[in-house]
Amino acid sequence: MDSHAPKCKICHHQTKKAFDTKVIYFHKAIFYKCEHCGFLATYNPDWLNEAYTQAINATDTGILIRNHYFCAITATLSVLFFGKKANILDMGGGVWHPCKTA
Ligand SMILES: [Zn+2]
Repeated sequence: MDSHAPKCKICHHQTKKAFDTKVIYFHKAIFYKCEHCGFLATYNPDWLNEAYTQAINATDTGILIRNHYFCAITATLSVLFFGKKANILDMGGGVWHPCKTA
């Protein structure tokens, strides 16, 4: 067991390092997966301010239609794989639009 691995944000069980990668070109991010519920997350990200500085570009006029499109795909896949009563958690969705429309 990795003694530095954090507890799961969802169920508070032990996590295990899943992989590391670079985020926004150069920030190192370590992702941990919960051994109990499978939740995958990174902890204490230091790039969030940079990530949300320009979440929406003023010239991006297709953002809402893309959100509707991906919301429909997500809802369809959810029903197909998990049934009509499945719950979808949109964590880190950025602008919250899919959460409001789902
Ligand atoms: Zn968990």
